[in-house]
Amino acid sequence: VRNLKKYFPVTNSLGKVTGHVQAVNDVSFHMKKGETYGLVGESGCGKSTTGRTVLRLIEPTEGETLYKGENIYQLKGRKLLDMRRELQMVFQDPYSSLNPRKRIGHILEETLKIHRIGSKQERMDRVMDMLNKVGFQSEQYFRYPHEFSGGQRQRIGIARALMVDPSLIICDEPVSALDVSIQSQVLNLLEEIQDEFNLAYLFVSHDLSVVRHIADRIGVMYLGQMVEEASTDELFAQPLHPYTQALLSAVPLPNPTIKRERITLKGEVPSPINPPSGCVFHTRCQHATEICKKNVPVKRDVAPNHAVACHLYE
Ligand code: SF4
Ligand code: MG
Repeated sequence: VRNLKKYFPVTNSLGKVTGHVQAVNDVSFHMKKGETYGLVGESGCGKSTTGRTVLRLIEPTEGETLYKGENIYQLKGRKLLDMRRELQMVFQDPYSSLNPRKRIGHILEETLKIHRIGSKQERMDRVMDMLNKVGFQSEQYFRYPHEFSGGQRQRIGIARALMVDPSLIICDEPVSALDVSIQSQVLNLLEEIQDEFNLAYLFVSHDLSVVRHIADRIGVMYLGQMVEEASTDELFAQPLHPYTQALLSAVPLPNPTIKRERITLKGEVPSPINPPSGCVFHTRCQHATEICKKNVPVKRDVAPNHAVACHLYE
């Protein structure tokens, strides 16, 4: 993902454009085959918009997403359809993404039809196979979405994403709506199928404990920008960006005997319509100096597998 930007116009009551929400502002990162990349930050930081733009559910304002070397925003026709098959999404609320009037077997079969895969019998077999993979019996083929619990529906959402044999799944807060006991079941399922299908996950979440559990690498977003990026172990052991430090200080430690100071940020997250000059975090950063108000810090490598956008490390 290179220099991705997504701005949404803001209109007044007369429909006139009065400004733009700078939801994603110059975000770059890469992912490897089969890895889990966690995209974290508070609500409104642009992580979901980044995920959706990477999938081309929304078109970017600027920038590129290269998948196997091709800019997905330029794909058309057959190539676009192939890209859509390989990149799938699992949503936070599976209920709203499952047609309530259709039996789940048909919902799963539909993805195959769109991509014109298989004969009727082959499609049925594949649906049964995927339902079994995510822990259902074949009889459940004929049931409707409302007959399932939240956790079950999320497993149906995962099965649907798997139907077309994708290589990347964008998971947008996939367990946030579920009870904690159910969360770990769904996370375990995601991990099991990852190995079996050699899947990469772009895992979007505000929940750092969940991301710590599942991600190989993590990107931290604040106000539309990526402020730090590191392997999961490195990020938790040595967060460098003052925003990451504050964010992590609120996560419970696995070993409660270790004392750590909770860093409380002053003020509110500024408006993404009119973000602060220089470093977007300067209005809340306890280390801010004059340069931070003027110059935008560029994300740069400070160690293998660790990059940060902050003037403190230049
Ligand atoms: Fe704080 Fe300056 Fe670093 Fe921004 S660039 S995080 S304001 S020290
Ligand atoms: Mg979101």
